[in-house]
Amino acid sequence: MSVNFQLRRLLFWDFFFPPICSLCDRSLERDDILFCGHCLDTCEIAHAVDLPPFRQVDRPSAAFLMHHHPKDPVRALVHALKYDGHRVLASSMAQRWSLTIPADIREQEATWIPVPQYWARGWQRGFSQSALLAKALQKELGFSLELKLLRRVRHTRSQVHLTPPQRRENVKGAFRISKGCEIPERVILLDDVMTTGATMEECARTLKKAGVKWVGAVAFARAKP
Ligand SMILES: [Zn+2]
Repeated sequence: MSVNFQLRRLLFWDFFFPPICSLCDRSLERDDILFCGHCLDTCEIAHAVDLPPFRQVDRPSAAFLMHHHPKDPVRALVHALKYDGHRVLASSMAQRWSLTIPADIREQEATWIPVPQYWARGWQRGFSQSALLAKALQKELGFSLELKLLRRVRHTRSQVHLTPPQRRENVKGAFRISKGCEIPERVILLDDVMTTGATMEECARTLKKAGVKWVGAVAFARAKP
């Protein structure tokens, strides 16, 4: 089938069945992916008071609040990327995310590390959403990114139905420092969702034990447990 024919078929299809927003049924603009600009503009900004308490993380930040409502745009973005495999969403998420990252975090001389996932899960899904978001955010902010230093050494069960103490127990000892890697002085951890903060805390604890002096943590979404 020629490229020309495929293109014509695509235009024909779009003309009679214009793509619509998965949340509100409005027609999508040319650059929109799955969701329209109206819906994405309703993503609720997260503030410092919305964050869980941290001990090991020196400077936490989350961009948007995630509600459990199925029409919540933040939840829809996170789920579409993580569970439905819409990797193309990472760059538009990173664009919106980059605008909300506080200056005192952006301006740190720090190494950015996506929260690692267990290799089998990445293999199953075909990608790590935190690494994908980290690469997209790096294009916006131009920081130095490190993907090898921190490893998740065991599978941790889904935290969705766990209480905060159970979450801490669940991730205890789940991360290791790779041998032979240089230990940076300052690290900024990055993940798609922050709930109780237990995973970020355990990463920070592991990094500090290895000699990291200061740890920041940024998440695209803050979900209330
Ligand atoms: Zn919409």
